[in-house]
Amino acid sequence: MHIPFLDLARLHQPIRSQLDEACRRVMDSGRFVMGAELEAFESEFAAFSEVRHCVGVGNGLEALHLLLRAYDIGLGDEVIVPSNTFIATWLAVDQCGATPVPVEPDRATHNIDPSLIEQAITPRTRAIMPVHLYGQPADMDSINEVALRHGLIVIEDAAQAQGARYKGRRVGSLGNAAGTSFYPGKNLGALGDGGAVLSNDDAIVNKVRRLRNYGSAFKYQHELAGFNSRLDELQAAFLREKLKCLDEWNDRRRKIAATYSTLLQGADLALPLVPSYAEAVWHLFVVRSRVRDKLKAYLEQVGVSTVIHYPIAPHRQACYATRDFGQLPVAEQLANEVLSLPMSPDLYSDEMSHVVSSVWGFNGGR
Ligand SMILES: *Cc1c(COP(=O)(O)O)cnc(C)c1O
Repeated sequence: MHIPFLDLARLHQPIRSQLDEACRRVMDSGRFVMGAELEAFESEFAAFSEVRHCVGVGNGLEALHLLLRAYDIGLGDEVIVPSNTFIATWLAVDQCGATPVPVEPDRATHNIDPSLIEQAITPRTRAIMPVHLYGQPADMDSINEVALRHGLIVIEDAAQAQGARYKGRRVGSLGNAAGTSFYPGKNLGALGDGGAVLSNDDAIVNKVRRLRNYGSAFKYQHELAGFNSRLDELQAAFLREKLKCLDEWNDRRRKIAATYSTLLQGADLALPLVPSYAEAVWHLFVVRSRVRDKLKAYLEQVGVSTVIHYPIAPHRQACYATRDFGQLPVAEQLANEVLSLPMSPDLYSDEMSHVVSSVWGFNGGR
């Protein structure tokens, strides 16, 4: 038995005719950029996310980058980011000329530890960018409270958590604004690249709308030196079809996570912990092991594909070799211990059983 980490072709099979129809709709319209599909998707995804506005952009990195620009964050400014995240969170800050200031995570949730944020704030700090890592909302009330006390903006990186809730409210609606990604492997993925900005702030949203389109609100009038970062019609049309499935897909992820958590209880692993304030959407099911590399090799041998998210912490990446971000031992420890088990809404129950018995098999073999 071979269990893929994630098989998107298989996930799309049951909605194949809807996706074909979406493609035909766009072809027939003759409109491929900034048309009716984008407008419809933006209003549908804003409603889903419980915010007033959604702006489709080219990808998740651009969503975060354009948001920082919209808030006039740039050279000389500092933005607080988690020390363990996908590197895009940091690169967005770099791209607008500001400096990422990493804060270590809580070991249990893997999300930024709000109690460590205050000591990282300087007179240059402008914003906090929490990440809802692996589909689990960060502790937003505590983060917002620190931000309010210091007059900081809060920009959620919701790329891994579409549909998740914090104290009943959707992620993307919890700070001043949010950026998200529709990279194919995300919980809501396009059939290519895509991203979006979410916010209730009219002024910021209008600025992002211009920044994504050459700094222009009216054709050939450019008030801002903008960018070209738009969500195209084909992707918007596919996303409209997949959005209809998202709550159900996230429910199935929750059931798989619950099964893994129950059946792996007692195995020689640290299982993911979800605080009571969070309704996670399990973008990834991440366990920790001190013998992670051996476990990964064993699972591969018995047909279970796993992935490491992420093997190198951002501050240890070659691109940051000349910069000093200080000591970040928790991020480094997590990078050495984390392992993501297969997780997809359509994982069959016999596949799940094989994953579980394989993990126990490794335990027994030691
Ligand atoms: C995927 C991801 C991004 C970037 O999204 P892209 O669409 O790939 O640019 C940003 N932050 C996090 C946490 C992500 O997982």
